Amino acid sequence: MNQNEISEWLNKLPLLQQIIDKNEVLWVNPLNGHSDEGISQSGITAADVKDASERLRRFASYIQTVFPETREAGGIIESPVTEIPKMKTALADKYATDIPGTLLLKQDNALPISGSIKARGGIYEVLKHAETLALLHGLITTEDDYAKFAEPEFRNLFAKHKIAVGSTGNLGLSIGIMSAQLGFNVTVHMSADAKQWKKDLLREKGVTVVEYADDYSKAVEEGRRQADADPLCHFVDDENSIDLFLGYAVAGERLAAQMEKLGKTVDADHPLFVYLPCGVGGGPGGVAFGLKLQFGDNVHCFFAEPTHAPCMTIGMMTGLHDQVSVADFGLDNHTAADGLAVGTPSAFVGKKMEPLLAGCYTISDETMFELLTLIADTEEIRLEPSALAGMTGAIQTIGNEVPSAHSPNATHLVWATGGSMVPENEMDIYYGIGKAESRK
Ligand SMILES: *Cc1c(COP(=O)(O)O)cnc(C)c1O
Repeated sequence: MNQNEISEWLNKLPLLQQIIDKNEVLWVNPLNGHSDEGISQSGITAADVKDASERLRRFASYIQTVFPETREAGGIIESPVTEIPKMKTALADKYATDIPGTLLLKQDNALPISGSIKARGGIYEVLKHAETLALLHGLITTEDDYAKFAEPEFRNLFAKHKIAVGSTGNLGLSIGIMSAQLGFNVTVHMSADAKQWKKDLLREKGVTVVEYADDYSKAVEEGRRQADADPLCHFVDDENSIDLFLGYAVAGERLAAQMEKLGKTVDADHPLFVYLPCGVGGGPGGVAFGLKLQFGDNVHCFFAEPTHAPCMTIGMMTGLHDQVSVADFGLDNHTAADGLAVGTPSAFVGKKMEPLLAGCYTISDETMFELLTLIADTEEIRLEPSALAGMTGAIQTIGNEVPSAHSPNATHLVWATGGSMVPENEMDIYYGIGKAESRK
């Protein structure tokens, strides 16, 4: 984009100047409309999400066979919802902002198998591909007990097939771990941001890891190119995959059941605000879609992005989606929130979100680290930096006077997207950075 074009955008959208200046801002989406219309425009239906949910149920007996940590939940990969009253008090103090409603944490950091939100979409897509192949080769019917997927004839079939993915890390972990467990020949194309321990862990599990000096988009592009040349290779396309999206969307019915169990009402008088860390958009987009199916206009979904990588914010504000990158506005896409280090958003997701998303906001790395340390100190919950992006959501919506955010009947739910896989020594370093930041 040249200087003239940038000036034109700044005239139209003055908030962009603050984004260029890397300030923490909230953008309210003017296209946000009635949920029913947004859902019907999306081309994705409640039946599609139900189909995904039923597929995960069919695989539950297999999952609990091969991942014993899921046995207690009957092979259903789900995370707890936790009330965090001490963190709420600490946040209110830090920002001198009253939070009259309830603050909840959706702990995807504790999701079994791969410890991040990617355990939803990523694992789902691999399972769906495995089921498709097994059905095609007559190894199974949908009426069978899927524990059979652990048998050698399945592994032999999958060993002839490849799965590939491009990732900043966590998607690679989910796809890699699940594919290797089933017996697939799996390659993860990793961007420069990806952490060494993630590459090591994957290689230990027999996954081929290809490293790139470039960022996420490059790793995806190269992975896609190599996979396209091979008919036996299934490429998990983080930017365009409907299966990933559906796997994430199942979270909606799961959260609705959990809210009911907790006795938390969601209706016109009890709005639910949900804050979702956003990278390329698939995870938060799919989850937001699932939540819209459950709660309609009573849920208000906001995406949270690093000040250095607000790709979805810029893509949606301008309506340019994947035709614009953060670099066009002089931003460098450098962030310690590796799950969010994405410079160009998914247009597939952005377009679906246009009529459904309440807004986006940004958060600095310094703030994420401070909040990482704060929630460790107050609630003894350890999260990775990306997972803290949702934590200033209530401060942003209340501070910017988003209607009903200040209501005592409001529930603010922070989607904590990852953390439990981070090695302890890495986590200690994060904690120390946050401590140092908060002393500044
Ligand atoms: C991937 C990831 C996200 C964002 O998901 P996208 O699908 O890339 O938008 C958020 N938090 C964590 C920890 C992640 O790994």
